Amino acid sequence: METFQRLESEVRGYCRNWPVVFDKALGSHVYDENGRPYLDFFAGAGSLNYGHNNPELKSSLIEYLTDDRIVHSLDAYSVAKREFLETFEEIILKPRGLDYKVQFPGPAGNNAVEAALKLARKYTGRQTIVNFTNGFHGMTLGALAVTGNSMKRGGAGVPLDHVATMPFDNYLDGQTPDFLWLRSLLEDSGSGLDKPAAVIVETVQGEGGINAASAGWLRGLSELCREYDILMIVDDIQMGCGRTGDFFSFEEAGITPDIVTLSKSISGYGLPMALTLFKRELDVWGPGEHNGTFRGFNPAMVTGTETLRRYWSDDSFARATKAKGDMVAARLTEIAGEFPQVGAHVRGRGLARGLGFEDTSIAKRVAAESFERGLLLETSGPEDEVAKLLPALTTTEEELTAGLDIMADATRAAVKVAQPV
Ligand SMILES: *Cc1c(COP(=O)(O)O)cnc(C)c1O
Repeated sequence: METFQRLESEVRGYCRNWPVVFDKALGSHVYDENGRPYLDFFAGAGSLNYGHNNPELKSSLIEYLTDDRIVHSLDAYSVAKREFLETFEEIILKPRGLDYKVQFPGPAGNNAVEAALKLARKYTGRQTIVNFTNGFHGMTLGALAVTGNSMKRGGAGVPLDHVATMPFDNYLDGQTPDFLWLRSLLEDSGSGLDKPAAVIVETVQGEGGINAASAGWLRGLSELCREYDILMIVDDIQMGCGRTGDFFSFEEAGITPDIVTLSKSISGYGLPMALTLFKRELDVWGPGEHNGTFRGFNPAMVTGTETLRRYWSDDSFARATKAKGDMVAARLTEIAGEFPQVGAHVRGRGLARGLGFEDTSIAKRVAAESFERGLLLETSGPEDEVAKLLPALTTTEEELTAGLDIMADATRAAVKVAQPV
């Protein structure tokens, strides 16, 4: 531990909540260097939807490396990239009737978001992007400008502009008609809102508090965008790749975004990889106009291809995730029911779930008490007021039950500290 404190920057974050040194990891468990197991309901913030060191994905990776196949190729053509593209087209795009082109923008989620924003601005010739309260889109300047969190925004050191923020679903009183404000501004030539290039939205806000937009709200937004000729960007970096059940989180709403960002679990193995997808007619990029050294990280494409083949060839994996999500929600509802005095309630969709508390001190304690009991949980929301469950989608029902039992105990302990009787 001393090594990290001496040498690693103060910017380090998650490690402060989990002050142990991790070493091994398999499936839904990680182990510290002393061999103590932890059940992982964090899953790399959604980068490990298929678990740690998934054996089937690992063998494809090891074989690729052992055979001296090309690892780094910038954006030169490679066999691994061709196989990924063909598999993505066959298994993901075609069955969903999506005619998207694929950009490899660089390895991180923020690379995919920056490319999406640049492309929307270039295509429309406009500057303003509409974002939503409590949205999260990454830490680079463009992505940070459309992110809500004031502490993270403060790290920029320069103005973050060309953005107009609108209320996310259920941000107001639950009575105000959806998009009343946005529609009014778009219709009024005196409103002061420059015509936006695009909106950027998450279907479920992962960092912002596990706020799930309703299908109706998403459809309303999609229609509004069409009506006013504004591009719709869905940031599916955390909620895509099956997190809510379907491969894309927007499928349930029956909408087709103009631009989609994916990263986190697209390689399936926790290897860095990101994609920006967009409708064919939006492909106005010039060669090399947006680039990056690690766009062609072939090992990630190899495990990504294997993931699509193994988990997405039919809809059984999506159905299993939805069933597990319903089970988790039912158990969380029971837990929440024990604690009306601190305003406990359940949020989310699929296997992205949250146990929120009106008393904003509780969720942080729930996470700490869970850690003591061998469960890794993150908190979410502007005041960390939500205990966030993001287990690997491959987590078994027994493991889910074991983790939820720990959460129930941890919540009892956390509420006792906050409200001693
Ligand atoms: C994690 C995340 C990002 C940023 O991805 P990085 O790899 O951290 O740059 C962007 N959008 C959403 C919704 C995310 O969850």
